[in-house]
Amino acid sequence: MSTAEQYKKFREEVDEVCRNCGRDPRDVMVVAVSKTVDTNAVLEASQAGAYDFGENRPDGLLEKYDALPQARWHFIGNIQSRRIPDIVPRSFLIHSVYKVDHLAKIDAAAKAAGKIQNILLEINSGEEAKDGVAPDMSFGVLAAARRLPNIRICGLMTMAPQGDLEVARSCFAQLRELRDEIQAMGLVDDIYFNELSMGMTEDWREAIEEGATIIRVGRAVFSSDFA
Ligand SMILES: *Cc1c(COP(=O)(O)O)cnc(C)c1O
Repeated sequence: MSTAEQYKKFREEVDEVCRNCGRDPRDVMVVAVSKTVDTNAVLEASQAGAYDFGENRPDGLLEKYDALPQARWHFIGNIQSRRIPDIVPRSFLIHSVYKVDHLAKIDAAAKAAGKIQNILLEINSGEEAKDGVAPDMSFGVLAAARRLPNIRICGLMTMAPQGDLEVARSCFAQLRELRDEIQAMGLVDDIYFNELSMGMTEDWREAIEEGATIIRVGRAVFSSDFA
């Protein structure tokens, strides 16, 4: 199966899972994670209708952004301070922000690029996960982000532990509850603070059922194991 066919088939499956749980397919964005494939695969998926792509390393983002600047690029990986000036001008949404000292640097880079940078706060969902802020520490990070004029906090992101779909489901439900709690506290501008970036190749169905608005999917779109 070509990448184009595989992407189309995957998006149809997403739409069906949405309808089966009473959600509007237009409310779920598919970010095609292209970190393991080359630019040709990105161009093929784009021709099949993919519009949002994710990269987890700055060098991959730079290379692929240049090949397809009209797409929306998502940065989903570990952030190093010195690469923030590379990441910000190219990213529609940065999913993986959780360190307070990165916020001011992202704000400055956004100002320099003449943009408001959309970000998500990455929440640590388990003992194995090394990245993200613990849920009870998230309020402080949000309060710091809120003071920065060139940052727009759009919601939360997490990676569930792999291997047990019911564990993943409960972790997704907890992320949704945390979002609802933050909205109710009035900690952020709730016009924008809605997004839940959760669910990957193994667990995107559970994520959609628990309210994901963005799923980040690599292998299901690009790997021949899933064609
Ligand atoms: C690689 C990656 C994904 C996609 O993983 P798949 O299992 O291939 O769907 C999603 N999110 C992040 C943060 C990743 O690094």
